[in-house]
Amino acid sequence: MNMLSKRATWLVSALAFTSGAAWAEFPDRPITLVVPFAAGGPSDKIARDLAEALRKPLAQTVLVDNTAGAGGTIGSARVARANPDGYTLLVHHIGMATAPSLYKKLPFKTPDDFEFLGLVNEAPSTLIGRPTLAASSFAELRTWISENDGKINLANAGVGSASHLCALMLQSAMKSTMTAVPYKGTAPAMNDLMGGQVDLMCEQATNAVPQIEGKKVKVYAVTSARRLALPALAQVPTLSESGLNGFDVQVWHGVYAPRGTPPAVLARLNAALQTALREPDLIKRQEALGLRIVTDERLTPAGHRQFVEQEIERWSKVIQKSGVTAE
Ligand code: ASP
Repeated sequence: MNMLSKRATWLVSALAFTSGAAWAEFPDRPITLVVPFAAGGPSDKIARDLAEALRKPLAQTVLVDNTAGAGGTIGSARVARANPDGYTLLVHHIGMATAPSLYKKLPFKTPDDFEFLGLVNEAPSTLIGRPTLAASSFAELRTWISENDGKINLANAGVGSASHLCALMLQSAMKSTMTAVPYKGTAPAMNDLMGGQVDLMCEQATNAVPQIEGKKVKVYAVTSARRLALPALAQVPTLSESGLNGFDVQVWHGVYAPRGTPPAVLARLNAALQTALREPDLIKRQEALGLRIVTDERLTPAGHRQFVEQEIERWSKVIQKSGVTAE
């Protein structure tokens, strides 16, 4: 190919790239949803549900890959560093808003290093205990906690995880100190709770409902402001009505791409996400686990970004008050 035609080819492909025509075929290979926690936990369940619902609108294979550790920051860093081509996305939760305040040295900056594809859902959490705990109500648990202050093991999915944040709020509201036992996700933590190796855990309803229904753990309260209309949880009081007035922890999940992903690709992905979240089967599956699908402006990239920025602000105050930080 002579110099002139090489230059012409370069010019045409550069124009195509900027005009978005180069992305007209997107996606022409499988897309990976990175989950920054261990398989089997609530984030993993949500991502796999989403992957299933995205396959049709994207007409492409959508895979889920777990990169766990450090409260979700290792998986988040992987996506922040990924090629901004729309093929590596992150499904992450409230940890996106808490990591900036909790971690002194983060290998990425939120919101700068990400494109926001939309907020997906909100999940209430539950306060659950090992099946061998004698307490059979929150009132009895409260007495047990005060009699065993400093001796209680409370599982979480790492510093900055939803279970960790809920536990911070719980200890501050109950003026109690518990020992945090971190895992790579609440799936492995749940196994130890059911086995009696740890005493308590704040766990999203997504993962807790099946174990509560199977009577493999004891449930004491839900952490959202309102009771859950799920058969397994309808009689379970909120922490707020149990004496921790105003206690309200909701865990939200969103989808992110690396900063610099082309606008045409972001628009294609957001459109597919909006279609996926309207799929009746997905809505049914998520609502059966207590999840609420987002349908408001937070499902748009701008609304999602604004929401996360507000949450970063909100949680920085809570974290500052708790005095907790991570390396
Ligand atoms: N989302 C985490 C997981 O899926 C749990 C958490 O953040 O507490 O394991």
